[in-house]
Amino acid sequence: MEQSNSLGLMNDELLRFLEEEFKISKINRLPEKYGGGNIFSHPLVGVAQGNDPIFHKFKKIIGQKHLTPLEMWIASGQDQLSASDLYVVSVVFPFVDKIRKENNNPIVLSKITLPAEIYSVARNYGNEFKRYIIKQTINFFKEKSYIAISGMFSDSYSIVLKGGYYSTWSERYIAFAAGLGTFSLHEGLITEVGCNIRLASVVTNAPIKISRRKSDEPYANCLYYAKGICKECINKCPANAITVKGHNKVKCNKYRMKVARKMVPRLGSILKPDSRRINWKLKEDIFLVGCEFCQFGVPCTEKNPMLSHDMDYF
Ligand code: SF4
Ligand code: SF4
Repeated sequence: MEQSNSLGLMNDELLRFLEEEFKISKINRLPEKYGGGNIFSHPLVGVAQGNDPIFHKFKKIIGQKHLTPLEMWIASGQDQLSASDLYVVSVVFPFVDKIRKENNNPIVLSKITLPAEIYSVARNYGNEFKRYIIKQTINFFKEKSYIAISGMFSDSYSIVLKGGYYSTWSERYIAFAAGLGTFSLHEGLITEVGCNIRLASVVTNAPIKISRRKSDEPYANCLYYAKGICKECINKCPANAITVKGHNKVKCNKYRMKVARKMVPRLGSILKPDSRRINWKLKEDIFLVGCEFCQFGVPCTEKNPMLSHDMDYF
C-alpha cells in the first residue's frame, strides 16, 4: 500500500488546517465563568483505508450492526464504489492541561462524587466543537473537489441497546484502525497524548496517505495488559465499574446517568443541548456532561505510559 509523498502533502495540509482551527475557533472555548480558555489543545490525525480487513473484524468484536466505511458511505447517500477508494480520517481532541488538572479535585457530596464543574462544561461544549471540526473537515475535502461524509451526522448512527451495548460507528475503534492508539483496562483509547480525549472522524474519497498501525495488538499502550502493573483506573472509579476483568458498561452508564441527574440542574442554562439516536430513535434536548474519573490522575491521562515505561530501561 505504498503511496507517493504528494499524498502525504494533503495530510500535512489537513493537520495544519485543523491545528489553526483548534487555535482560533471561538467554539473551542470555555464560557467566561470558567476562564474562557481553550477546551482542546492540538489535534492528532490518523487515516485508515476503507478496505482494511479490520473493519469487518469490528462487526464480530463490537456488534453486527457496526458499519464498515463503505456501508456508512452508502448509508449517507453516496454512490457505490470500491472500499479501497475510501479513506477514514480520525481526529483526536485532547483536553487542555488546565481542565485535566482541575478535574483532579472532584465535588464530593454525601451520596455521590461529581467531576469538577469545569470538566463537565468542557465535555458538554466539546461536542459542539467536534461537530464544527467535522463540518470544516468535510469542507476541506469539498474545496479539493472530493466528497466527505460523517458517521456521526448520519441517520444510521445510533446507540444499539438490543443484543448488546454499542454504537453503529465507534469513534474509538475507528481511531484504533487509523493507528492513533490502543484500548485499555478502562476502555478508553490511549493515544500518544493520553486517554483524556474526544474523537471524531470523516470518510472521504480523497486519496490521502494512510497511517500505519504500530501494532495490531489492541491493548499495547495499557500498563496492565502489557506489563501486568498499574490498575490505577480501578481505584479511581467511584462506581466499581472497572476490575481486572475489564470495564462494565452497564455499571458505568448507571453512574454516568446519576452524575448527569445532579450535574445538569447544578450547571443550569449554561449547558448546551445535544441529541442521540438510541435504537435508531432520535432523542433531543439531552445534556451530556461526562464522568471519566478513571481517566484523571492516572499514568495514561496525558501520554502513552508504555513509551515512558520502556524508556526507563535505557
Ligand atoms: S490507568 Fe493504568 S491500567 Fe488503567 S488504563 Fe491507564 S495504563 Fe491501563
Ligand atoms: S466513566 Fe466514570 S463510572 Fe465509568 S468507568 Fe470511568 S470513572 Fe467509572
